[in-house]
Amino acid sequence: MENKKPGICPVCLSKAYFWKEKTSKKIRYRIEKCDNCGHAFVNPRPSFDEIAAFYSNSEQNKKEYTVTEETIINERKKQHEETGDAHDLIKEIENTNTNKECKAFLDVGCGSGFFSKEATEKGFDVVSLELSSGKRAIAKKLLGKEPLATSFEDYDSEQRFSVILMSQILEHVVDINLWIRKANWLLAREGVLVISLPNFNSVFRFFLQEKDPFICPPIHLNFFNSKSIKLLLEKHGFRIKKIENISRIPSSVLEKRIPGLFRTTVPAWTLFANILLKIMNLFHMGMMINVFAVKKENVDNER
Ligand SMILES: [Zn+2]
Repeated sequence: MENKKPGICPVCLSKAYFWKEKTSKKIRYRIEKCDNCGHAFVNPRPSFDEIAAFYSNSEQNKKEYTVTEETIINERKKQHEETGDAHDLIKEIENTNTNKECKAFLDVGCGSGFFSKEATEKGFDVVSLELSSGKRAIAKKLLGKEPLATSFEDYDSEQRFSVILMSQILEHVVDINLWIRKANWLLAREGVLVISLPNFNSVFRFFLQEKDPFICPPIHLNFFNSKSIKLLLEKHGFRIKKIENISRIPSSVLEKRIPGLFRTTVPAWTLFANILLKIMNLFHMGMMINVFAVKKENVDNER
């Protein structure tokens, strides 16, 4: 598998060489890494049918899905630990968005809808897209209206948005260039594209290599670092306004690992862990990347 001729990096078009392979449900996925920007990606790409088959058995796509208050509380907790505080992110988006006349907000892959809800409360006119029926059911309860059951590839609109949010989704996408080109096309002048995704250059990935839980094809197909996401956005007519690393270890993780006798030391360990995480973030080795980019120009009018 290692001897195959090099692939082409979808971000910077440099040569990409075999990095690792990972097996999921008995299928082996080959991962390549770019020599120039360090971007890693599954190559060859799995087919749409293969991906659809993988998701069709998922718990979140059952036909019957009951949403209780408890479901919402659990989802909120999970979302907070995985992607951070919705309030903080939407506030940051408000600060970045200079086009105050346009309030149209597109939440691509809105999940359970916490970001959509926060944006709606801040006065944005939100359109949410979500393919998972389970997540749509939760979002409907939270937002009072059901997100559109369409992919970003198939979504069409005459409307131009002042904000597009892609939280924890670009790592799943087959054609990353198509997505960013389309985001450019759908945004109004000076519109803001906000992307949040796992960091391939995180300290954890260096230690765990392909065993890092974020390296999980065919769910995740693209493994970005701060440099590669920046290059991809600049290539499609965006100016980077802010790029930051975010790292969190939920306190429940520390509580589970520290024996009962030493439970009182959890706050001290949490503080220690948070200091370490802040240092990692400063060196672009944090767990997640958040990037805020402004549409500088219309790169092309084709989707
Ligand atoms: Zn590259």
